Amino acid sequence: MSVLATPSVENTRSRLVVDLDAIARNFQTLQKLTPTAETGAVVKANAYGLGAGPVARRLMKEGARTFFVATVEEGVEVREALADPTPDIWVFSGYRAKDRPLYVKHRLGAVLNQPGETAQFRAAPAGPCAVHIDTGMSRLGYGAGDISGLLNALQNLDVSLVMSHLACSEESASTNNLRQLERFTALTNALPETRLSLANTGGVLLGERYQFDVTRPGIGLYGATADLSADNPFEPVVTLEAPILQLREIDAGDTVGYGATYVAHSPRLVATVGAGYADGLPRALSGAGCARIAGLRAPVLGRVSMDLTTLDVTGLEHEISQGAVPEFLGPDLYQAAALDNTLPYETLTGLGARAERIYKGTP
Ligand SMILES: *Cc1c(COP(=O)(O)O)cnc(C)c1O
Repeated sequence: MSVLATPSVENTRSRLVVDLDAIARNFQTLQKLTPTAETGAVVKANAYGLGAGPVARRLMKEGARTFFVATVEEGVEVREALADPTPDIWVFSGYRAKDRPLYVKHRLGAVLNQPGETAQFRAAPAGPCAVHIDTGMSRLGYGAGDISGLLNALQNLDVSLVMSHLACSEESASTNNLRQLERFTALTNALPETRLSLANTGGVLLGERYQFDVTRPGIGLYGATADLSADNPFEPVVTLEAPILQLREIDAGDTVGYGATYVAHSPRLVATVGAGYADGLPRALSGAGCARIAGLRAPVLGRVSMDLTTLDVTGLEHEISQGAVPEFLGPDLYQAAALDNTLPYETLTGLGARAERIYKGTP
C-alpha cells in the first residue's frame, strides 16, 4: 500500500452544515399542511442538535410565533437568541417555583403537568400558563382522574394553552391516535375555553382534525419524519462534512481499521476522513453506511473509530482532486438511523459538540 498526495485541507475538523433555508422551507411545508392552525416550532435539545439560536431566529423571520423547549435553560437561550419578547416560548418539563425569576425575566410560559406544579404556580403566577393533559402517553400531564381538581386549581389563572401529546402519531393506521383525539376532545370540553395543541410532526401529517389551534412540529423542521416507511415531505437540512486527511491505495489482502474487519479483494483507493463517533457519526455505519462525494456514494470501509472513518473512494479521484468534501447524513440520515436501530431524532441529537456548526442560507 502507499500514501497518495492529498488535496491539502486547511481544516482537519468536521463541520456540521445546517441549511437554514431548508428549515424555512420545511416550516412552509408544515404550514401548507396546516390550513387553519398556527404552526409552532419545537426547538428543544438545541433544536435537535442543530443550534437553537440560529434555528429559532430564522423561524421567527419565517413567521413562527410559538416556540417549545424542554427546560428553562433552553427557554432562556432561545429568548436571548430571538432578542424579542413577543414570541411565546413554552417549557415542557414542568414548573418549579425556584425558576420563577427566569420565567418572569425572559417571559417564558410555564407548562403545568401536575397538581403540585399548579399549586406552586398559583402561589405566585409567572404570567400566562399552559396545561398538559395526558391522553394515552402516561408520561407527563394531568390524567383524566385529575381534571375536576384541575378546574378549581385553574380559577383566576390565565390559561392560554391546553396541550397533549400523541404516542403513535407516526403510525397513521394506529387506533391509538383516534382514541387520544377523542379523549383530548372530551377532556378539553370540560376545561375553560382556550387554545388547544395536540399535534407533533406526525400529528400534523394525520390531518386537519388533529391540528387544533397550534401545532408542535420538531423533526419535520429538521428534515425527517418518525415513520421510516412513509413518503417524507421534508427536505434534508444537515450534512456532516468530514475533511479527507489522507488518501492511500491498498492492495488485495490489505485490511482496514480496528479489528481488521474489512479485507480488500482488489486494489482500492481509501480516504481517511476526520470524523468519527465522537463527532456523532453512528458507529453502526461501520462496514455498512456511506458518505457522498459530489453526490456519489463512498461506502464506509471497516469500523468507524472515535475521530476517523475510512471510505472507499475508488473511482472518485476526479471529484476529490476538484476539492469535493465527503458528506455524511443529508439524504442518508434515515439510512444512518436505521443502521443504528434508531430514529433520526437520536442521530441528530447525538451530533457531537466537536463539529463546528456552519449555517447556510439567510440567517
Ligand atoms: C419533542 C416533542 C414534540 C415534537 O415532536 P416531533 O415528533 O419531533 O415533531 C412535540 N410535543 C412534545 C410534547 C414533545 O416532547
